[in-house]
Amino acid sequence: MFNTCAVTNEAVRQARQAIRKARRERPDARFIVTGCAAQIDPAAFAAMPEVDLVLGNAEKAAPGALLDTSTRVRVNDIMSIKETAGHLISGLKDRARAYVEVQNGCDHRCTFCIIPFGRGNSRSAPAGEVVEQIRRLAAEGYNEVVLTGVDVTSWGSDLPGQPTLGQLVGRILKLVPDLPRLRLSSIDAAEIDPDLFKLLETEPRLMPYLHLSLQAGDNMILKRMKRRHSREDALKLVAEVRRVRPDTAFGADLIAGFPTESEEAFENTLKLVEEAGLAFLHVFPYSARPGTPAARMPPVKGPVIKDRARRLREAGQAGLERHLQRQVGRVLSGLVERDGVARAEDFTEIAFTGEAPSGQILAFRVTGHDGSRVTAERVA
Ligand code: SF4
Repeated sequence: MFNTCAVTNEAVRQARQAIRKARRERPDARFIVTGCAAQIDPAAFAAMPEVDLVLGNAEKAAPGALLDTSTRVRVNDIMSIKETAGHLISGLKDRARAYVEVQNGCDHRCTFCIIPFGRGNSRSAPAGEVVEQIRRLAAEGYNEVVLTGVDVTSWGSDLPGQPTLGQLVGRILKLVPDLPRLRLSSIDAAEIDPDLFKLLETEPRLMPYLHLSLQAGDNMILKRMKRRHSREDALKLVAEVRRVRPDTAFGADLIAGFPTESEEAFENTLKLVEEAGLAFLHVFPYSARPGTPAARMPPVKGPVIKDRARRLREAGQAGLERHLQRQVGRVLSGLVERDGVARAEDFTEIAFTGEAPSGQILAFRVTGHDGSRVTAERVA
């Protein structure tokens, strides 16, 4: 079963390549293709002789879907999916932490993004179900839970009474008192609600790391991307969070070389890395996704995109090193991911010598850093 990704053309190309390769190795297996790439372009996968069945993102969850051989392509209009049941899943990538998907889909239409066409409109898992799930995970011994979603800050807007993400987080922390760490995945810089803000200030179990979906630091480019925040909004948010929770670290997604991006516009994005004090960057060189409005805008030349991505990554590296340097001498609480590697509350990676059971929270004294993580020794 191939769960495909459509976020870039490259992801789709790799999915097709993986299917062909697997078919050569497994000539008799039954091949099912699902996920966002299959949802967005089912015909492309149906045309591959290697594929036995193409399933949409909603259809794959239907009971008996994998055994039903009556039709070869079953992909319906994802925008018609309204129900929230069934998507409250927890991923257990490692034993260290659990991921709980509280929201799926997205109501926004950023001009570069194909995701809503793969995942549909925003749907939220009801708070009661989320709390129950996390209570179970905490009882199983998980010390950290990460709330995930395509657009997690819009959680609740489709539920009765339109509760906010801050209210959900508050409820989880109150009703699952033995959970030591709760973390948010990527959030939208346009949307931190007052409750969430208050919790960042008052609740140490809410981890002080925010990964912001910024994408750019130039107002014209942000407008053309159809993002809902401005450069000033992003800077204000970071400053306000730091004021109430000074130990917060920030990460961000940034796109290099969005269509029409001038050198001056790019430099506004580049400068934002230092101005906002971003420590963890995900840099994406822009690649056009057919079917999106941005794919029809005047492109920036390939080598320029590559060069801007490199400059952004360099700025990101400098930001990370500044952040790591500030940790030297501190005692950090780290969640052990595997032997020799733990993760601080603010998501800084900690390298230590010795063994420790994954999932345990231990104290570490930072002795230095190697440019990508801090080196530390355990505090008895
Ligand atoms: S908010 Fe995120 S998922 Fe939604 S359209 Fe924009 S980039 Fe895509």
